[in-house]
Amino acid sequence: MMNMSVVSPFKHTSESRFRFRCHKDIPCFTRCCSNIDIMLTPYDIIVMKKRLGITSEEFLAQYTYVEADQKALYPFVFLRMHNDDIRACPFVTPEGCTIYEDRPANCRYYPIGQGTLKKSLNDNIVDEEFYFFVKEEHCKGFEESAEWDIESWRKDQGVNIYDEMNREWKRILLSRGIPGQRMDEKKQAMFYMACYDMDRFRRFVFESGFLEKFEVEGFVVEQIREDDIELMNFGFRLVKYILMLEETLKLRT
Ligand code: SF4
Ligand code: SF4
Repeated sequence: MMNMSVVSPFKHTSESRFRFRCHKDIPCFTRCCSNIDIMLTPYDIIVMKKRLGITSEEFLAQYTYVEADQKALYPFVFLRMHNDDIRACPFVTPEGCTIYEDRPANCRYYPIGQGTLKKSLNDNIVDEEFYFFVKEEHCKGFEESAEWDIESWRKDQGVNIYDEMNREWKRILLSRGIPGQRMDEKKQAMFYMACYDMDRFRRFVFESGFLEKFEVEGFVVEQIREDDIELMNFGFRLVKYILMLEETLKLRT
């Protein structure tokens, strides 16, 4: 988990300004890629397994570990660091990140963190996104002179597509706050497969009798046959159904 003492305790917006630059000649280069816990989103996993040319099962087994959140027992996937003194990321080298173009959303945002809250607006409950800074002692980037606002940083780091892909996922995570929402082992297993393990989930949908049990639109069936992103979105539908958040699927009569 993140060391909360390095989180600056202010909520920022996309207009908030800061000075920062990260480059190869900075003395702390790659220091932030060790001794850190990086939570992966379903979209991160799709992008990374594709980059590495392996299946989701292989990726999850080789590069990740799972922890259930304490409140509602939702399973979260983290990047597994090397078991050495500095707990180095498996993708870091002295030259930098070997999967830089496909690095996870949390690595892109760093040294900014992002959160979502539910708030009431005109009698509706809406999601409010906010940002915070992570200021670790070893990070010298804040001493550089390049100026940003959070929006220009997000553009520079290519996070827009990640935010778009993760929006539904974050909504599901916010449901942990619903009183009484607590997963049993069966729901945990389904959540894990439908959100993280796309190749196994695809086999489950097409080979287990699932489509005989649930009514799924024909065009969706065709989309999820090949497309991991569509399958991920379908996984979110299934998760919302099993958590009883929305009636996103219908049983066949
Ligand atoms: S510690 Fe900060 S400045 Fe140094 S490499 Fe990491 S992000 Fe860049
Ligand atoms: S994935 Fe890349 S950027 Fe992220 S911690 Fe690992 S080496 Fe660093």
